[in-house]
Amino acid sequence: MSNYDCRDIQAFSGVMVFCEQREGVMNQTSFELLSEGRKLADDLGVDLWGLLLGSGVEELAKQPGGYGADKVFVVDDPLLEPYTTDAYTKVITEVVKEKRPEILLIGATNLGRDLGPRIAARLHTGLTADATHLDIDTKKYMDFLAEASNLDLTKGKWNMEDKGLKMTRPAFGGHLMATIICPRFRPQMSTVRPGVLACAEFDAAKAETVTVEPLKVPLAESDIRAKVLEVVKETKEIVDLIGAEVIVSVGGGISKDVEGGLKLAEELAEAFGGGVVGASRAVVDAGWLPSDRQVGQTGKTVRPRIYVALGISGAIQHKAGMQDSEYIIAVNSNPDAPIFEAADYAISGDLYKVVPLMIEALKEV
Ligand SMILES: Cc1cc2nc3c(=O)[nH]c(=O)nc-3n(C[C@H](O)[C@H](O)[C@H](O)COP(=O)(O)OP(=O)(O)OC[C@H]3O[C@@H](n4cnc5c(N)ncnc54)[C@H](O)[C@@H]3O)c2cc1C
Repeated sequence: MSNYDCRDIQAFSGVMVFCEQREGVMNQTSFELLSEGRKLADDLGVDLWGLLLGSGVEELAKQPGGYGADKVFVVDDPLLEPYTTDAYTKVITEVVKEKRPEILLIGATNLGRDLGPRIAARLHTGLTADATHLDIDTKKYMDFLAEASNLDLTKGKWNMEDKGLKMTRPAFGGHLMATIICPRFRPQMSTVRPGVLACAEFDAAKAETVTVEPLKVPLAESDIRAKVLEVVKETKEIVDLIGAEVIVSVGGGISKDVEGGLKLAEELAEAFGGGVVGASRAVVDAGWLPSDRQVGQTGKTVRPRIYVALGISGAIQHKAGMQDSEYIIAVNSNPDAPIFEAADYAISGDLYKVVPLMIEALKEV
């Protein structure tokens, strides 16, 4: 695309979401991004596009339609399986140069964190990594600030006509939120944290009618400098915190009897009808649970139906990962623990005494 110019803002239109799949299964984050992308596209009055890459992925091509995509571009090539940074970067960069979306969203998964910066560098545009909130509409952005910040919104000048993407993410160890804009270059790019954006209901009728457009991007073996010799899979069981309906998390409060505390958490999760056990960083740092269980700013962002915090103080970095849960129940021996500010049900007491009573009560109902 010889006439491609990242500064020619008027030449770009549309919202594009990179739909990540592995071994023929679409990543949940892609559905979250499509759901959010739909809202952004509606605010802009433009189309939402899914971009699907892989080998033999045609069966997945309609799925993005069920989450709001107007069109799905598919690049199907044997050289796109397994994933390599070189091949994916080349293909996505070429597609963006041809289609010129004004916004490109990628999940901040391991794969997305690898891809995002390379694509942004190739396209000579900016990238906001690890965003947790996105806005187009200034009024909606101000509503978000009114709820999530202590900014005085009566001060300063607000451009209500501004249609730039406002990408918000935690900064300085989660002590403040920063909103980043990309006013001079296109596309406006962001990787977005898994689990933070709400996912729409899948609409089978829309999936059925979505337009699928196969694209050909020249790709040769010589484009791929890193060769994948073997894929070694983790054999341990991975607990799916992000998709869980009920999470019972333990914190430093279990230190006096770690084994007993973990057992109580497992039993409580079970009593809720099959929840999973998460942890604060204090627990992971102490080696009592593996890092894939950590909830918070440097762990997972979760929004289950029920989140139970047992012996967790409620540091801002922990709350950043769970405060959007539907119901929060906190048990803490300190009546002034900050976790109670986020809790719908605050139980002040010793978890070793409270949790057995909770399990008993749940078993009765
Ligand atoms: C850059 C950065 C990133 C971070 N990322 C994360 C993150 O992703 N996730 C995270 O969790 N933290 C994170 N942290 C750490 C965070 O600041 C806190 O240190 C951590 O969350 C504390 O964990 P905790 O509340 O479980 O432990 P503690 O601070 O030790 O608190 C233990 C709590 O248990 C209560 N308690 C004690 N005994 C009992 C009992 N018998 N019954 C009931 N309650 C009891 C106490 O009153 C206290 O409130 C991060 C910090 C930094 C600087």
